[in-house]
Amino acid sequence: MRLCVLASGSKGNCTYVESSEGALLLDAGLNRTEIVHRLAVAQLDPARIRGVLFTHEHDDHCSAIPVLHRYLDAELFANGGTAEAIDCAHPDAALPWTIFETGRPFDLAGFHIETFSVSHDTAEPVGYVLCADGVRLFYATDLGCITPAVAAAMTGCTAAVLESNHDPVLLMESKRTRHLKNRILGDTGHLSNEQAAAFMEQNAPDTLRLLLLAHVSQECNVPSLAKSVMRDALHRAGRDDIRVEVLSQESPSEVFTLATN
Ligand SMILES: [Zn+2]
Ligand SMILES: [Zn+2]
Repeated sequence: MRLCVLASGSKGNCTYVESSEGALLLDAGLNRTEIVHRLAVAQLDPARIRGVLFTHEHDDHCSAIPVLHRYLDAELFANGGTAEAIDCAHPDAALPWTIFETGRPFDLAGFHIETFSVSHDTAEPVGYVLCADGVRLFYATDLGCITPAVAAAMTGCTAAVLESNHDPVLLMESKRTRHLKNRILGDTGHLSNEQAAAFMEQNAPDTLRLLLLAHVSQECNVPSLAKSVMRDALHRAGRDDIRVEVLSQESPSEVFTLATN
């Protein structure tokens, strides 16, 4: 399996994953031109993309889709709540959805795809576990708290894309409104560095080799801080063997090749 996060953060999210049979996008929250540009920068072929899977209807995860779906020869996948909410926001797009039921796995482009509910302030938000070529990839980028479903999804994973959104002190010192601060800090908002680190300290599976920190706030976090909080927690758990990287809003990640151990 190959993985490249094209963008991660509150200004846009889009991730490319590829199996030996085809490729998928997870979310499409950059404009079409930028997605195409970043795929080219990462030397990835848009023609391989067979499906676009959505986590939830916030703009930073789906803004490109009315234009992008005319450009890509790919199916659009979401659960009923998310598809309905995206349709409400783009009533003229007439998007041809394939609807899945949260928790019921399906197969696509060489992937076995599992979905799990996450706690976020949208209609029916989900995270994904993508399985291909013997590899399990965990993906959850907008979640206010860790639930048993999230912890269960991490089991046996080889690689994980996990939110590490903010430092609580930097968030409180920011110019954001009290309402927005409370939303981000709440159980249906976003995971702090400490919440993500505590989760991984307790739940990093023996199989995990790569951890990518996602949706890192540009105003209320610092990449080096997010990384050090996570590395300290993994060190306490005796897991210095896990590679930790911080994802960027501005440029695509390297193309990671994930293989069985
Ligand atoms: Zn988001
Ligand atoms: Zn969101």
